[in-house]
Amino acid sequence: MPRIAGRQLVQPPGPTNVPDRVLRALCAPTVDHRGPIAQQLVKDIFAGFERVFAFGGDPVILYAASGTGAWMAALSNTLSPGDKVLGFETGHFGRLWAEMVSEMGFELHQEPTDWRSPIDLNKLESILKADKSHTIKAVCAVHNETSTGVTSDIAGVRKAIDAAGHPALLFVDTISGLGSLPYEHKAWKVDVTIGGSQKGLMMPPGLSFNVVSEKALEANKTAKMPKGYWRWAPILAQNKDGMFPYTPATNMLFALKEGLTMLHEEGIEAVYARHARLAEATRRAVQGWGLETVCKDPKYASNTVTAIMTPDGVNADQVRNMIYDRFNISLGAGLGNLVGKTFRIGHLGDFNETMLTGVLAGVEVGMDLAGMKIQKGGVQAALTYFAQA
Ligand code: PLP
Repeated sequence: MPRIAGRQLVQPPGPTNVPDRVLRALCAPTVDHRGPIAQQLVKDIFAGFERVFAFGGDPVILYAASGTGAWMAALSNTLSPGDKVLGFETGHFGRLWAEMVSEMGFELHQEPTDWRSPIDLNKLESILKADKSHTIKAVCAVHNETSTGVTSDIAGVRKAIDAAGHPALLFVDTISGLGSLPYEHKAWKVDVTIGGSQKGLMMPPGLSFNVVSEKALEANKTAKMPKGYWRWAPILAQNKDGMFPYTPATNMLFALKEGLTMLHEEGIEAVYARHARLAEATRRAVQGWGLETVCKDPKYASNTVTAIMTPDGVNADQVRNMIYDRFNISLGAGLGNLVGKTFRIGHLGDFNETMLTGVLAGVEVGMDLAGMKIQKGGVQAALTYFAQA
């Protein structure tokens, strides 16, 4: 293949662009993972994580695994075979998590959605109220459904569980929200928060996290699922001294520390504001093109990813491929029920206004070249917004 000049704009909603500082941190020489450098590194990471998860002293468990592994860790550490789990199919990731719940031998109650909306809080409350004997042991909620660009209201999920007076554990997947969207593990009384490295933390894929409440640790004492590699107890015991019961991915830990340092240098509130700004500019561009987002109610539009519906008869993958081939921009594909119907622009991680402008320009011309009927002026709408914001 001929050389393509310039860096590719990698714009699926994760993995995100990894900044040079993080790449350089990955190249650190090997250290003894039981020696003082690694021990200090682990302690620094836990300190750096506080503002990102707002975990309020709850322990964070790091896994050398993708986010899917951290889903499994949450389930296997807290539940017993046959326990009932309530999930919401907000999209592809809500579906995959539910499939794992079933496959692991739990009884699944999965609430459908139209894949364009957040978790229905009234529905959640009424299901839990009707469960008078408290057979539901856990609720699985995807905070930011990466396949649809819809964010669910996790504070509202907590309120609904409390309003029903139900003791179910709350598991929240904030894999595509972490480090980009405000998140409050402690204040929202989340029992296990699940995160991943490859999105807002600006790292390569490969690390994932469980943040664990006291209630989840209590449940862990009686949970009968086999836990294997995911077992929290030995990890927590050794983490106190900055160590692990196995060989941790030390170079990824160096990268994680650098990513967290960069978030704090910018200021976490400024990071959230930047994500909100870039998301709003993207939505204005979509409006300017006369197109629709998958997210129906703008109140729930994600600040990390926008999924754009292509009109009937236009295959979104062909449009996406055109943009890739002509402009070296890699966008997110439609997933699950949305295959061929949508493409997704990720606007998260180490990303700014001019990078987004390049992406939107490539998308605007690419849609035109692919034969999609759009109004011109999406890019201009984003630029006008940047000037005001
Ligand atoms: N949950 C959400 C919301 C995601 O966006 C993803 C991946 O994109 C996953 C879970 C699965 O994570 P991983 O691919 O790291 O296993």
